[in-house]
Amino acid sequence: MQESELRDRLSERIAQVEGRIEEACRRAGRARRDVTLVAVTKTVTPPLAALLPESGITELGESRPQELWHKAALLPQTVHWHLVGHLQRNKIERTLPLVQMIHSVDSLRLLQALEAEAAKQWRSVPALIEVNASGEQSKHGFTPEETAELAARVAGLKWVKMQGLMTMARYEDEPHRCRPTFRLVRELRDRLQATLPAEVRLEHLSMGMTNDFEVAIEEGATLVRIGTALFEGLANLP
Ligand SMILES: *Cc1c(COP(=O)(O)O)cnc(C)c1O
Repeated sequence: MQESELRDRLSERIAQVEGRIEEACRRAGRARRDVTLVAVTKTVTPPLAALLPESGITELGESRPQELWHKAALLPQTVHWHLVGHLQRNKIERTLPLVQMIHSVDSLRLLQALEAEAAKQWRSVPALIEVNASGEQSKHGFTPEETAELAARVAGLKWVKMQGLMTMARYEDEPHRCRPTFRLVRELRDRLQATLPAEVRLEHLSMGMTNDFEVAIEEGATLVRIGTALFEGLANLP
């Protein structure tokens, strides 16, 4: 596929996803500007990912730190990178300077190590607590019970700016079945917020992927992380 054709097809995909986000916002009585599309580029090469900022999509996500480093080095500085997958502690130092937000704080050990490295680098870092709300063994994150008890830890942070919760719902053939998961996470956020000092604002809910983002928006998502709906079937650039 020629680059120009690829560019056109990607623009079409972006427009389709954008239309679906707008519709979901309308159904939920929410403003479009309250939901941010994070394009998850883990399945595409850097040259294809580089077409996104040219098309107006500047929030990009990667699930693996090394892949984020790799693409961050090749794409324009206008891109804001979101780490949406597991962060090993030995990769914090190199990841911190590159990211706009870490969506996937999934353990107390990671939280402590992030706080320490952010202090060392004199760099504050927006972050979200990952909640394993589906109970699947394969998923990272705090259980809902653990999440509800994180207030004291979160209130004590200086360099990690805790801004909300993130979750991945279980895959469902019928996306409406994900609604209880998203609702649970929103309610958890509300409960945690009520026990935190006013200066900590848990304003973000990162939830919703290709299969379920419309339901997530209806349940209050502020960040949707979308890969497949944007890239599936587009031939990749080298
Ligand atoms: C891959 C990935 C996504 C995007 O998933 P799609 O179903 O391809 O839209 C979102 N969040 C995380 C954490 C991912 O790893």
